[in-house]
Amino acid sequence: MSIDLHDASPDPGARCPLCEDMRQHRLVEEIPNRVLREILAADWGIRIPEAIALRNAPEAACRLLECSSCGLRFFARAKAGDAGYYGALSVAAKYYTPTRWEFGWVKRRLQPGASILDVGCGPGKFLSEIAAVASRAVGLETNASVVEDACRNGLEVYLGELGTFAPENAGKFDVACAFHVLEHVEAPVAFLRSLASCVRPGGTVYLSVPNRERSEKAPVEPLDCPPHHLHRWGSEQLRVVGRISGIPLREIAFEPVDIRVPRDRLRAAVTRSLGRIPFAGDFFSLWTGRFLWRLILSPPLWKLYCRRGILERMGYFGHSVLAAFSCPE
Ligand SMILES: [Zn+2]
Repeated sequence: MSIDLHDASPDPGARCPLCEDMRQHRLVEEIPNRVLREILAADWGIRIPEAIALRNAPEAACRLLECSSCGLRFFARAKAGDAGYYGALSVAAKYYTPTRWEFGWVKRRLQPGASILDVGCGPGKFLSEIAAVASRAVGLETNASVVEDACRNGLEVYLGELGTFAPENAGKFDVACAFHVLEHVEAPVAFLRSLASCVRPGGTVYLSVPNRERSEKAPVEPLDCPPHHLHRWGSEQLRVVGRISGIPLREIAFEPVDIRVPRDRLRAAVTRSLGRIPFAGDFFSLWTGRFLWRLILSPPLWKLYCRRGILERMGYFGHSVLAAFSCPE
């Protein structure tokens, strides 16, 4: 595998999809599309037919830029994958996540009897989870076979795009959600405005994205690249999309990191430090590592760290970051 890294980006005319800045953006990395296809086949068992791959990613490599104004990382001139591309992806059994951390986070904040819209609902896992709480739970999805399955399971899911659904459903919902959708759309500001237009004044919009600061990620993740993901977000860019859209941000929440990540890193650091002590180092590093694991990372303290946001302040993040927006009254 070869990944070329450059210091500066000569990519004239690349427009930031969030703030529309067209100044020269910093080149973060350039990833050959051939490498992405090879990893997709090896790790996910997904083989994109040649014609579909070339249609969706015609260039030899995709170029990740960082906006010099808002900090969004985006792939230059990337287009969203077409129906053929998503048809090839969705045959992989693990493409649709069974559940997400944000499903529970949002569910705990729903008022009983609320009407809820879930855009990009997939097979409707979130709709099923909230069915008992909501007065109406509606899904919108662009994958026809997934919509059929969801309807067969008794869920109210429609096939279509938000751009056409929103004008016909203005103000009809108390809450609208889009989990891991924003990073797929070519115009994130227009998307948030459309989503918010489906919500009554004073209602809530929830958006979640993969957190680019997450602690666990592979050096190259094909599904975090075009034509699947068009940009990479941090919490700051969720603030920006609210500001530009005119939809006030109420809260940002981070998915807690898996306990094994800080545990392993902490143990490795302690072992490294104590191992430098002649003779006694090996003995102390082993037992101090175990002692620290049991004491500092005990389950009750772990819950406290998550509640107080201590792990985020230490730079440990789970997979998702979520923003709650309040629609103006
Ligand atoms: Zn920007």
